[in-house]
Amino acid sequence: MTGVATEQIRAVLAAEPGADGDPGVPGRLGEITTADLPDGDVTVRVRYSSLNYKDGLAVTGRGRIARRFPMVCGVDLAGTVIETGSDRVRVGDDVVVTGFGLGEDRFGGFADVARVRSEWVVPLPSGLDHRLAMAIGTAGLTAMLCVMALEHGGLRPSSAGGRPIVVTGAAGGVGSVAVALLARLGYDVAAVSGRPEQEPYLKHLGAREVVARSELAGGPKRPLEHQRWAGGIDAVGGRVLAAVLSQTAYGGVVAATGLAGGADLPTTVHPFILRAVTLSGVESVRLPVDKRRVAWARLADELDRDLLAEMIVDADLTEVVRLAAEIVDGRVRGRVVVAVDP
Ligand code: NDP
Repeated sequence: MTGVATEQIRAVLAAEPGADGDPGVPGRLGEITTADLPDGDVTVRVRYSSLNYKDGLAVTGRGRIARRFPMVCGVDLAGTVIETGSDRVRVGDDVVVTGFGLGEDRFGGFADVARVRSEWVVPLPSGLDHRLAMAIGTAGLTAMLCVMALEHGGLRPSSAGGRPIVVTGAAGGVGSVAVALLARLGYDVAAVSGRPEQEPYLKHLGAREVVARSELAGGPKRPLEHQRWAGGIDAVGGRVLAAVLSQTAYGGVVAATGLAGGADLPTTVHPFILRAVTLSGVESVRLPVDKRRVAWARLADELDRDLLAEMIVDADLTEVVRLAAEIVDGRVRGRVVVAVDP
């Protein structure tokens, strides 16, 4: 690997907690140098990144995401390799890296340059440019992993018995991609949202019906309720997930991946032992690269590009701090794509 000259780069830095009542340092757009970048055998000129819920927590300091400080936020990046010490990756390759601790325990994608390990790198999927790849990002990858979890559990459009798949947090990033993917695959989709004004958007993505979050937000009224859903994709957790489980039909599968509504799960064992419901956990950060490649290839093939484009909220690095607060407050629709050095 040839060394690049040290250069100043822009970087969105995580909020730092204060010590002993000190208010701490808010998340901000600052500067680091390439000499500050962590070890790794691949250096990437970042073209685009994306804002995920976890980035919102890190930038605002409303969640304990960054493990050390200063920390460059951004769990996702898409860019062009400018240095490599690996046979697997060449200078000029267009690549995507998501998770693996980016923006948590090592510098992430909200910076002009990032350094990563070659074993984490996925080639930019064919047919996607950097911007569209980041419109998918961790949220979209996770949505596809949820669809694959439903399939792994035996669900198919033909086996759903006329019942819909329910998607919670539907107007958010994971939810929007999940709605579009499921509809494209032929499932009936019920989109649960706390924002009634997003009904036209969700129906445009392919939802057959939109359910008010308030219907589920109180949790289950009984351990087993009316069998309403063939399965579900849940980005919300808490009482909403508990309600989904109590309403899932015999043999159904629910993929759990988020906690936008809470980390608790006030359920009973009844859905599992009396209705053979499967609760399938989905995790994207440590997912092995071979599985990522499968999911990215499916996303490139199966996600409608026009609908994906309509999910995008375009932003640049100067807007990340503002949008971080909005995503944590549940006010962002779809996917925020951050242009870094397009
Ligand atoms: P977004 O903020 O884009 O979407 C979350 C959505 O959840 C909101 O748009 C809103 O949808 C709904 N929501 C927000 N607040 C509440 C609340 N208090 N109660 C109920 N619903 C609420 O986030 P993402 O889609 O990027 O991520 C969703 C969740 O999935 C997060 O918890 C995130 O950490 C997690 N996640 C986990 C991954 C993993 O690897 N396990 C990977 C990616 C994400 P609406 O207004 O339509 O109701």
